[in-house]
Amino acid sequence: MKLKTIDNYNFLEKKALVRVDFNVPLNSDFEVSDSTRIKAAIPTINKILSDGGSVILMSHLGRPKEGPTEKYSLKHTIKTISDLLNRPVKFASDCIGTIAKDASDTLAPGEVLLLENLRFHKEEEKGDINFANELASLGDVYVNDAFGTAHRAHASTAVIAQFFKGKSMFGYVMASELLNAEKVLNNAQRPFTAIMGGAKVSDKILLIEKLMEKVDHLIIGGGMAYTFIKAQGGNIGSSLCEAEKLELALEILSRAAANNVTIHLPVDSVNADKFDKDAKTNTTAINNIADGWMGLDIGLKTVDIFTKIIAESKTILWNGPMGVFEMSKFENGTKKVAESIVAATKKGAFSLIGGGDSAAAINQFHFTNEVSYVSTGGGALLEYIEGKELPGLKMVIDAGLEG
Ligand code: AMP
Repeated sequence: MKLKTIDNYNFLEKKALVRVDFNVPLNSDFEVSDSTRIKAAIPTINKILSDGGSVILMSHLGRPKEGPTEKYSLKHTIKTISDLLNRPVKFASDCIGTIAKDASDTLAPGEVLLLENLRFHKEEEKGDINFANELASLGDVYVNDAFGTAHRAHASTAVIAQFFKGKSMFGYVMASELLNAEKVLNNAQRPFTAIMGGAKVSDKILLIEKLMEKVDHLIIGGGMAYTFIKAQGGNIGSSLCEAEKLELALEILSRAAANNVTIHLPVDSVNADKFDKDAKTNTTAINNIADGWMGLDIGLKTVDIFTKIIAESKTILWNGPMGVFEMSKFENGTKKVAESIVAATKKGAFSLIGGGDSAAAINQFHFTNEVSYVSTGGGALLEYIEGKELPGLKMVIDAGLEG
């Protein structure tokens, strides 16, 4: 896939309307507590500015339901953006109407304007065409750099592109996300190992089915593993289990065998007497957990098995933690898997981390720069790998870039 990106365009004296994903976490003082997504968009902004253009940034933040809400205001991100760009950032307290229009009209080349949260208007998520048209009136060209929302047909991510026929393109975040996803989807070196974890099998079914056509090894850990163990007749105590997915789990196991995919399930489990950071713990075979105990992490024998598979892999896709890594008593499995991925990457493997909480886990263990790529888009990455069409991709490609 050859995408038209901002590298194909000269922004001299143009106002670029750039959809970014600044949906960042804020602490209780409304300060940005993780600026990864803002940092990711900086090269795109700088390219436009260095061409002699101006930048109008639009994003959502959180899920406001009642219109403008203080805690979801994008004004809390101004300082972080400004520090990272090393220049002032103007702010429009509404993303449409006269406030936004005046701010855009007076924007000079080299300047950056941030619009208030798009989701303060319910029309954004509805993909309302008139709202998209109003946004479109603010800029000369449209840049989509919000991979995290590319799977949504919202006004600013997809619908808007039709107002920029011949003037729509992708930013660097979007381009590198897609390039890295392609590396695992269509250019994977073998052996290819997918590591799946997280809470539920039901969230990951489509992904597992798709990966079954691609991978050599499928490692399954985290809460979802217990449904597979139960399906095979194991005793899993009060571990997470999706009773209605037991048959499906067996079907996945037999389909894997038919596809020559080796599924690796945990053999031992670190269990807790309650879901609590101070719980009592024990380690047992994963199919022999006593009543009243719940498995919250993979055990050391499992870590050994998973580590060996990962060490031999040339392509690694990791989605979802191996246990409740947010509690230190149950972080070991996730940490060791992360360490194994880092070691394999050092030996030349390509590792893509994304979706669910695995990106958060990689950050927690400070390995972000030691894997090949950490995706900024959870749901969007998964839908892309599942083979679904992303509206934020399709509608921008359809609108196209000329000249
Ligand atoms: P996901 O968003 O599907 O990747 O799920 C991530 C969540 O799954 C994290 O918050 C983990 O704490 C949780 N999780 C992982 N393993 C377990 C487990 N064995 N039991 C309960 N929750 C788990």
